[in-house]
Amino acid sequence: MRPMRIDAEKDFGERECPGCAGVVEENENTCPICGYEFPRESRRRRAGRITAMLAALLAFLALVLLGRLI
Ligand SMILES: [Zn+2]
Repeated sequence: MRPMRIDAEKDFGERECPGCAGVVEENENTCPICGYEFPRESRRRRAGRITAMLAALLAFLALVLLGRLI
C-alpha cells in the first residue's frame, strides 16, 4: 500500500526550515519543530526590489538618451 496522503500534502506546498532543516507546511509561519519564524511576504518584497531595479535602469537609459540628444 502506498501512502497517498504524502503526495496530497506535497501539492499543498512545503518548505525547508533553515533552523532545523525540517519540512514545514507553506501555510505555517512558524516551524513546529524548532520555532523558527519565517519572514512574511518575502516574495512581495523581492518583487518590489526587482521593480526598483528596473525603474533605476529605465531612469539611467533615459538620462543616456537625453545626453545624446542634447
Ligand atoms: Zn525548524
